Amino acid sequence: MTEDARPADPGEDGGDPACWLRRVCPACGRLADVDPPVRCAACGELLPADR
Ligand SMILES: [Zn+2]
Repeated sequence: MTEDARPADPGEDGGDPACWLRRVCPACGRLADVDPPVRCAACGELLPADR
């Protein structure tokens, strides 16, 4: 019997960081509440939804 197979950790799904990084305002760094396109609540910068 070997222990080669590692079961997936149910507590960590390794979500893609890009899904929230694109919400970060390029001007002030604030994290938007919703997915872009949206305007930054802090400085009014438009966060593009180009990806
Ligand atoms: Zn901002």
